Amino acid sequence: MNEQTVKRIVIVGGGTAGWMAAAAMAKVLGPGYTVQLVESEEIGTVGVGEATVPHLKLFNNLLEIDEIEFVKRTQGTFKLGIQFNDWGQLGDSYIHGFGKIGHDVSLLPFHQFWLKARQHGLADEIGAYSLNTVAAPQGKFMASATDVPPQSPLADIAYAYHFDAGLYAAYLRQYAEQRGVRRIEGRVEQVELRPDDGFVEAVTLADGQRVEGDLFIDCSGFRGLLIEQALHAGYESYTQWLPCDRALAVPSERHGPPAPFTRSTARTAGWQWRIPLQHRTGNGYVYSSAHVGDDEAAATLLANLDGRALGEPRLLRFNTGMRRRTWYRNVVALGLAAGFMEPLESTGIYLIQSGIARLLNLFPRAGFSEVVAERYNAQTRFEYERIRDFLILHYYATRRDDTAFWNQCRTMAIPDTLRANIELFRDSGRFFREGEEMFAQVSWVQVMLGQGIQPHSYHPLVDQMPEHELGAFVAGVGKVIAHCVDAMPPHEAFIARYCAADPAA
Ligand code: FAD
Repeated sequence: MNEQTVKRIVIVGGGTAGWMAAAAMAKVLGPGYTVQLVESEEIGTVGVGEATVPHLKLFNNLLEIDEIEFVKRTQGTFKLGIQFNDWGQLGDSYIHGFGKIGHDVSLLPFHQFWLKARQHGLADEIGAYSLNTVAAPQGKFMASATDVPPQSPLADIAYAYHFDAGLYAAYLRQYAEQRGVRRIEGRVEQVELRPDDGFVEAVTLADGQRVEGDLFIDCSGFRGLLIEQALHAGYESYTQWLPCDRALAVPSERHGPPAPFTRSTARTAGWQWRIPLQHRTGNGYVYSSAHVGDDEAAATLLANLDGRALGEPRLLRFNTGMRRRTWYRNVVALGLAAGFMEPLESTGIYLIQSGIARLLNLFPRAGFSEVVAERYNAQTRFEYERIRDFLILHYYATRRDDTAFWNQCRTMAIPDTLRANIELFRDSGRFFREGEEMFAQVSWVQVMLGQGIQPHSYHPLVDQMPEHELGAFVAGVGKVIAHCVDAMPPHEAFIARYCAADPAA
């Protein structure tokens, strides 16, 4: 136990992670604390990370950010889910929609009733019973309605955002600086450790400035300037399960109305994303360099854009995995400095947000106790491993056998935790969310079914509903969803009415 009071916070890095951390610290900690952020314009940021999950609304609520202003300022659009094309097999398409599926009956989730109805030819695809997955391909969107009964699917619409990563960081920077965060421009050249306990004492910049602190938040990106280069926390790689190690990213001209969903299309050695914003579309090809060369990957990416490319594809190299310790001594790593999960389910920004929440929950009063750091690290590991399993599911549960990459994914050994979940689901369609894992049952169910995992049976209590009632129940849910989607405006019209960005900005 080190007894120094923790009042001076130094954040190293001004990408999405750095400014999210700065904004949250400024808002929550209040007077008595100082927050300084060091960043280097010369080094720049990773410049990607534009699709999110609904949890971001909680972060915005914490900061009391006005949603309309936020969407306008970041050229944002709304996201109802992710469309996965060619994943289960070539020609397949399914949507992992946010929000509920159907209508649960007492203890039983709707999909259990759906499983029996489907077996008896009484039900459509599972997607027909989710507002999000019906609305998304029709290009419909609205925020939750306040003038409908509380049980209406329109009363509680789950959605996330797409936004411009650079504009998001700039927005949070302004927010944080207005609340007293001091930004220091400069390149960190040296990290000073206290000789007695190896804690970080200060960072020294290229111009000789020395910035001292009690708690250091490492948001320096993949390099992990403090957590790895100075403290050698170690890294655990997940590449035996998630073999993609590169991405090429390129923006393109906006083409048609922005879709209210992220699109992920499986390619010969990875997958391609499309993220529609108000002023442009973000695209990228995430691939395994062992299976495709950079030039071929770039050609594939450029040949599959909806609009004209706005520049040359930018290459990013990564190693999927996480630091063995994300809190070590007086350093907490967030963002790419903490670990990397490929953006298949848009989890990067969520992991920053949950790291910040965890740090605030475990914020030290005086000194750094090992039990606190251990709990932080255990929770972080659990969260990463469950997301890791969810991502592996997309690759492993494929029937694709058209390339060496997909053959490797389909036949690889998977973690026991994932195997157990797949086996239970295959047995009787059951899934249990554990602890504070990120993805809920509905997410796992949609992806398992979407990837072609068919349960052999369903929960026995479903049989308590007579068959004619079952058919009417499931059909009724489908009708309500279709009716609600009919009432929704086009996504583009919703944006134009409420949150169109300034075209000159
Ligand atoms: P960076 O943006 O790299 O910022 C690092 C900061 O540290 C910079 O300000 C840099 O100047 C500073 N710095 C570094 N070294 C020094 C030094 N010596 N001195 C001073 N400053 C220094 N996440 C999602 O949620 N959704 C997505 O759709 C998504 N897509 C992604 C696609 C790809 C290909 C990749 C690689 C990631 C994606 N992510 C996504 C993850 C997301 O981009 C990151 O989580 C997010 O941008 C946070 O990055 P960061 O702030 O940790 O790092």
